[in-house]
Amino acid sequence: MTIKIALIGAGIMGAAAAYALAKRGAEVTIFEQFSAPHNRGSSHGATRLFRTAYFEHPDYVPLLRRAAASWRALEKASGVTLLEMCGVFMAGMAENPLISGTMSAAEKHGLALEQLTRRDAVARFPWFSLDPAMETLIEPEAGFIYASSAHSAFLAGAAAHGAILLQNHAIEGWEGSGANVDIISDGQRRRFDKVILTPGAYAGHLKAVDGALVKPMRKQLFWTAPNERRFTLSNGFLPFGIEEPDGRFFYGFPAVDSDGVKIGEHTGGAMVESPDQDDADYSNEARRDMAAFLRRRTPELSPITTKEQSCLYAMSPDGHFIIGHQPDDERVILAMGFSGHGFKFAPVIGEALADLALEGETLKAFDFLKPERFS
Ligand SMILES: Cc1cc2nc3c(=O)[nH]c(=O)nc-3n(C[C@H](O)[C@H](O)[C@H](O)COP(=O)(O)OP(=O)(O)OC[C@H]3O[C@@H](n4cnc5c(N)ncnc54)[C@H](O)[C@@H]3O)c2cc1C
Repeated sequence: MTIKIALIGAGIMGAAAAYALAKRGAEVTIFEQFSAPHNRGSSHGATRLFRTAYFEHPDYVPLLRRAAASWRALEKASGVTLLEMCGVFMAGMAENPLISGTMSAAEKHGLALEQLTRRDAVARFPWFSLDPAMETLIEPEAGFIYASSAHSAFLAGAAAHGAILLQNHAIEGWEGSGANVDIISDGQRRRFDKVILTPGAYAGHLKAVDGALVKPMRKQLFWTAPNERRFTLSNGFLPFGIEEPDGRFFYGFPAVDSDGVKIGEHTGGAMVESPDQDDADYSNEARRDMAAFLRRRTPELSPITTKEQSCLYAMSPDGHFIIGHQPDDERVILAMGFSGHGFKFAPVIGEALADLALEGETLKAFDFLKPERFS
């Protein structure tokens, strides 16, 4: 008997889950409130960082190793390059989370790291101006993902295996009906066996989701040095992460198109009541802080940014993902609260959601992300 699955949200998590489910023969319907792709959520834009020696928590490392292999499998299936494992350059104080967390995750899981002397760092990365006390290293099993290509590859792959994408279909909620679940949109009911929620920062809009579990945070991205070949991967300009002594964490990417070098701050951001809400004060402050960062740390990059884009983090209470069955209802599966660092995991999260929907359980490696930790 074919299992009928409803997916709420066609961001990277919904797209990855649809692909995994459709490949396994499930009947998949994806409901997306906007058109897909769009730039009102968390998955838009050209690039996302990929790291393996995960300072956020070492228990993510086994998932990242699987994710790297799954990105390669999707590249093979789609014929598109999706992951540049070019290495990531990192700098910060030894005792602060970026360097200490990366080094302890690497040690725990036997991952390679290249520690640089100050002389090496200056010679190989002349674009950066760092404090003498800062540690510098390169993580080789790291790089970046071509995000919009990845999103398209998942959606195209899902469609090729029969998944249906209903765009501009906002889901108001769902109701259990015997062994099934009815999805409600525009007053219409559709019956499914299971529902998977990948609503991103809009989770709070869904009545049955505990609004405390996911809070929207507005983030701003910037670009500088358009059309400059100096800051490209082929010229040795790697994706980077710089953690300031005060704990602020800035990151950036080599130019992959004419927009130039993309830079963002992972720390900071404006908590907003609703994902649709803008915050002009925050945007002005973020622009000032980014110009100050560029002056301080990358003197060769113009502090006058040439492009900006807004994006949303979906913040969970502890900054870790929320993946698993809704505690009181096995028909409902949650994947949310990716807190600004979920993209790189998308293929393995897609597979885990398919496991949960079709087999009722998934890898034990996901146990630390179960929603029960909040109940
Ligand atoms: C500025 C920025 C930089 C980032 N950098 C990185 C990085 O370098 N590396 C990394 O790994 N991660 C990074 N991330 C995080 C990563 O992009 C997100 O974790 C990921 O995109 C989350 O995907 P999602 O599918 O959960 O959310 P979304 O892409 O927001 O998808 C949710 C979808 O659900 C739809 N939806 C919601 N409610 C409903 C409803 N009721 N009915 C129908 N549709 C609905 C929304 O319209 C949306 O399309 C970054 C995020 C941001 C914002």
